[in-house]
Amino acid sequence: MSSSDNKPERTLADLGVTRPDQVASLFAEVRAQFDAKASEDFIEILWKEWRDQWLGRKSGFLSRITDNWLKPAAPDLKRTVGACLNDLRAHVEAKIEERRLSIERNEEEWSLARERVDLSLPGVIRPVGSHHLIRQVFQEIEDIFVSIGFSVVEGPEIETLYYNFEALNIPEFHPVRDDMDTFYLELPKGALTPLLLRTHTSPMQIRTMEKQKPPVRVIVPGKVYRRDNPDATHSFIFHQVEGLAVDADITFCDFTGTIEYFVKQFFGSGVKTRFRPSYFPFTEPSVEFDVSCPFCGGTGTAASGGTCSKCKGAAWIELFGAGMVDPAVYGFVNYDARKVSGFAFGIGIDRLAMLKYGIDDIQAFFQNDVRFLRQFP
Ligand SMILES: [Zn+2]
Repeated sequence: MSSSDNKPERTLADLGVTRPDQVASLFAEVRAQFDAKASEDFIEILWKEWRDQWLGRKSGFLSRITDNWLKPAAPDLKRTVGACLNDLRAHVEAKIEERRLSIERNEEEWSLARERVDLSLPGVIRPVGSHHLIRQVFQEIEDIFVSIGFSVVEGPEIETLYYNFEALNIPEFHPVRDDMDTFYLELPKGALTPLLLRTHTSPMQIRTMEKQKPPVRVIVPGKVYRRDNPDATHSFIFHQVEGLAVDADITFCDFTGTIEYFVKQFFGSGVKTRFRPSYFPFTEPSVEFDVSCPFCGGTGTAASGGTCSKCKGAAWIELFGAGMVDPAVYGFVNYDARKVSGFAFGIGIDRLAMLKYGIDDIQAFFQNDVRFLRQFP
């Protein structure tokens, strides 16, 4: 209030005001000073300060005027002072409220301006990914086996010698270990057992049977590792789906029937299957399953009349190995080999995907080239 700042602190007598017209001009002066301030721009915090300066209950100017001008006023001035004070109070309150509303309005406008969305701006295009072909083939195989009562289990990629070899009837110095050379983990000195990256998904046969009494029907999709040099058909990492069914009365017919059902579901009902005797340490008897070449209809001759390039004229394509579970394996998991029987198979996913989708280089699965991946949305 500049020069009149201290006027409400003093009494009328002190200010030399003795006539009603002096009272009126004193109030006019105060009001003019209020109005000068009222026309300034306020932000909320300054508005609050201003409001308290005028309307504060103890030390606000209006309270001071009440205490110092009205209360001690001489009887002949009291009415005028009271009326002027009421006018001033109404004016001050109305103005302060008006400014409060305008601050609120401004803030709303500001926040609207801040949050305004410009629909004319070009959007951000985020490409939607898709499942990798390997994942899609896993899914396809899982769907087929789940539909005939198998469940899906997964297991560790880091294994012990026991689960990867010994419990699968592959003792140390067994020649099969040469084909399954793999990567060993560097462990601190004194580690109890070497750890390796599993060479097949078969360890989960053992882990499942250890945990579960027959009947068992599981498939195990997953990554496996071998020390192979990369070329068009070899990779040090690839994918398998292991299958295992063990129950009281599973026969060789159940086994071949299941495999045939799977192959027809996967390649189409027109294909034929056949099996040839083979050898795996953990199955007895063991077989290799072949499928009649789906590309030349099992004739060995391509549509052009030449030799079919997929089966090289053989009319059959080798699919995967399988067999009846070797009774010796049941000994490792406390199953009674006289009471149970079952079959197991190990499907190479990469090979199957290459066959079905006509891919000629296994490395394409691991190179993350979007030109390749986009072909299998
Ligand atoms: Zn063919």
